[in-house]
Amino acid sequence: MKLLEEYRDPATVRLLADAVARIATKPWRLMEVCGGQTHSILENGIDSLLPDAITLVHGPGCPVCVTPACSIDTAAGIACRHEAVVCTFGDMLRVPGAATDLMTARSAGGDVRIVYSPMDALGMARSDPSREYVLFAVGFETTVPVTATAVLRARASGTGNFTVLNAHVRVPPALEWILRMPDCAVDGVLAAGHVCAVTGYEEYEPMAARHSTPIVVTGFEPVDILQGILMCISMLEAGEARVENQYARVVCREGNPAAMAMAREVFEHADADWRGLGVIPGGGWAFREDFRSFDAASRFGAVPDPPDPGDGICMAAKVLTGVLEPTCCPAFGRECTPGSPLGAPMVSSEGACAAYFRYRGGGR
Ligand code: SF4
Repeated sequence: MKLLEEYRDPATVRLLADAVARIATKPWRLMEVCGGQTHSILENGIDSLLPDAITLVHGPGCPVCVTPACSIDTAAGIACRHEAVVCTFGDMLRVPGAATDLMTARSAGGDVRIVYSPMDALGMARSDPSREYVLFAVGFETTVPVTATAVLRARASGTGNFTVLNAHVRVPPALEWILRMPDCAVDGVLAAGHVCAVTGYEEYEPMAARHSTPIVVTGFEPVDILQGILMCISMLEAGEARVENQYARVVCREGNPAAMAMAREVFEHADADWRGLGVIPGGGWAFREDFRSFDAASRFGAVPDPPDPGDGICMAAKVLTGVLEPTCCPAFGRECTPGSPLGAPMVSSEGACAAYFRYRGGGR
């Protein structure tokens, strides 16, 4: 507990914010990649402590927000056709697909259940062999090893009624994609500490050099974030671009090799559709040949990738790439609220639009 208090200490936060103000001589735009960091920044008013010259923009690090509409439609279709029980995380229920959503599928009689871990879905399948169970698996490198563990255990136990609708994605290729955008407005990056705890940060090193963009692996408490900002601004002001690790109490350069080995045993890197962003080369995971029997899309059929019509008037793609602040979306707080969301960033507990609505009172 003492550790957490230290990382929330208001005096330390103030000292760090003052240090940022002292060294910043130019306007800089920093992207916090993770939605958890966005929520912490707004909840703790970190953005308001910074000098006007420093702008924080939000990144694609909300797994619910980037899950493609076609995956949601596929999951809803499986449930509605009563082919299987669909198990997923609670945030996914209200995210609109292109045609429907999982809440509607449940209202129509589809068996959609909320789980807190992939292992919960496996447990249900093992205790009810009379039905098929599909885990709708979303998320970044933090959750891929757990999904892989569930698959490995299912195979070891001969559980044949458990499959995975895989929508897992990889963060580094998405960051590379954003830094390559012609209108990229990101000078420095606060990388997601929990993802790097699993992956390490070696992969970011050539990226920082290639784009002349400093990247700081950063945690989630106010002191973490302000330290990450200070480290990033220090590099920018010095004309340096390398990877530094603010979150060293959790993250090391090589990450968690055992977890990544588990992920790589079941999955391999593959191109993947990121909602609103399009197909990102190497941006996801596909089942390895040996594990294709666990692929729910093969067993039950998938709604084809294109066309993903996007989200209509929703400007989520611009929000997720740091081009647009949520409050600048014309629908924010009007047509689009957490009670009637038009896009995933307003639904998800990690969504940037939900964060602005919650901590800025829905004000524009
Ligand atoms: S406020 Fe709503 S409509 Fe606008 S970008 Fe966010 S989720 Fe989409």
